[in-house]
Amino acid sequence: MRKPFTLLLLPAAAIIVAAYVLGAYRAGNEQLAQGHRQLQLMAPELQSVLERFETLPFVLAQQPDLTNALARPKDPQAIARLNETLQTIQQQAKVGALYLMDRNGLTLGASNWDQPLGFAGKNFSYRPYFKAALQGQAGRFYGIGTSTSEAGYFIAQPVLRHGEIAGVIAVKISLAELERNWNSSEDPILLADRHGVIFLSNRPNWRYHSLTPLPPEAVAELASTQQYIGREVTPLARNPGPRVTQEVGRLGWQLMIFPSQLRVVRSGINWALATALLLACGAVSYWAMHQRRRRREERMAFDRELESRIAQRTQQLSETNRILRTTQNELVQAGKLAMLGQMAAGVTHELNQPLAAIRAFADNARTFLERGQPEQAASNLGHIGDASARMGAIISQLKGFARKNETIGPVDFGRAARSSAFLLESESKRRNVALEIDTGAEQLTVAGDTVRIEQVLINLLRNALDAVEGTPQPRVSVALSREGAEGVARISDNGPGIPQEVAAHLFEPFFTTKPAGQGLGLGLAISSSIVQAMNGRLAARNLDGGGAQFELRLPLIKEGAAR
Ligand code: ADP
Repeated sequence: MRKPFTLLLLPAAAIIVAAYVLGAYRAGNEQLAQGHRQLQLMAPELQSVLERFETLPFVLAQQPDLTNALARPKDPQAIARLNETLQTIQQQAKVGALYLMDRNGLTLGASNWDQPLGFAGKNFSYRPYFKAALQGQAGRFYGIGTSTSEAGYFIAQPVLRHGEIAGVIAVKISLAELERNWNSSEDPILLADRHGVIFLSNRPNWRYHSLTPLPPEAVAELASTQQYIGREVTPLARNPGPRVTQEVGRLGWQLMIFPSQLRVVRSGINWALATALLLACGAVSYWAMHQRRRRREERMAFDRELESRIAQRTQQLSETNRILRTTQNELVQAGKLAMLGQMAAGVTHELNQPLAAIRAFADNARTFLERGQPEQAASNLGHIGDASARMGAIISQLKGFARKNETIGPVDFGRAARSSAFLLESESKRRNVALEIDTGAEQLTVAGDTVRIEQVLINLLRNALDAVEGTPQPRVSVALSREGAEGVARISDNGPGIPQEVAAHLFEPFFTTKPAGQGLGLGLAISSSIVQAMNGRLAARNLDGGGAQFELRLPLIKEGAAR
């Protein structure tokens, strides 16, 4: 992520720079175009100021006061009239100054005769406009006044007397107001002469500097004409940059505007900033998109991981379950076998008794037949039938017990209790234990498996028989009852009860307090798991009057739904 990002910075910087250049270029062009438009307005204005008084000296040359003065230059009256005329016309025409020179360039009279810096008495023979007029041409010139130090545009015409040039009349026009108008413009504006010397500008410190270094002949010419009264003209300290130029007037002047570079730079910066912002926006949205994609991928990876873990765990669980079921089945079988072993003695006794009786009856029957007493023999055969029937009953119980039966169906709880008690009847008799059974008045049909229910009941009864060993008047009872939706069998004894330390481990497999060989400690563990498998409950408690009571609860099946 980091590396490609820094790699992207370079092209981004290039794009921003390009945007700057493009923005500045466009703004520069726009500025130049605007400068051009501005010049188109300014140039005619300047032109009209210069042209307005073009004919004034020519018209004045016809004035008799001028020729009079030229004819009698020593006549104070003629000079006074000249001065007055020039002053009046100057005021009416609103020009800078009007003055008359004789052929030698000496000023005979001037509109500013009454001012301290008046032109009267001054000699302007060195000025180009004078020289041109003396040649019979119109003289035009721009320069700084040697007496007033005020810059101005000069137009001169020869004054003829008897067809000959007797003097020169000149008008001086001030361009100061024009220059003042330029001050409203933000951009530098200037007027330069044909040498490139700036003489008017809204940047005062640019004045009397040249745009380019002056060639020596230009410097010599400026010195001879006193155009800028001997000021040393030096090039501008700094190149003012791109400009728009237009030529104006008759003297090869250049009107120039320098559009502000600040605006150009600002526009470039704006473009660069906008581009940078755009790029940043792009980068941010790309980054956000990337983040979102990454998060989605992470989530998907997490989901996949979770799924595979769940699948793994599920497999583990089902494996464990399978093992548990196998183990449980094995335990159930093992429990049955253990119980079979324990019951073997009782069963043997139970079967031995009728067997011995059958043998005795059979022997006697043979004897009766030999003696010719068939009735007695028949009676004995009847006894043999009874005894074998009893044996059959015992064996069928055992067969039912040993069968591995997983089905859950309606079970007659009372019958299961009775057959369980029946199996242990001889055992209890042998031990002198009173075995009482009360199955109640109504039939209780519970959901479960007959063999398993009997297995549990036998186990509980056997434990009770064991517990009452050594108790005076030992007693074990089974009582059935209906409690809500459950059938309950309570197996009680009057033994010593369950000690507290035993109670905690009662249902743990292989927990036993009995001597080795007598108990495996599997009975209650298996019973409890069997009961749970049938959605029932198995619990134990001690009775107030002494002894223990085990409670087996199984869900009842409603009579209608039973079959
Ligand atoms: P086992 O009978 O092989 O010992 P069980 O799981 O059936 O295994 O019984 C575990 C233990 O619970 C017995 O060893 C005995 O200490 C105790 N116990 C079971 N039934 C009774 C009872 N009715 N009265 C007192 N203790 C009992």
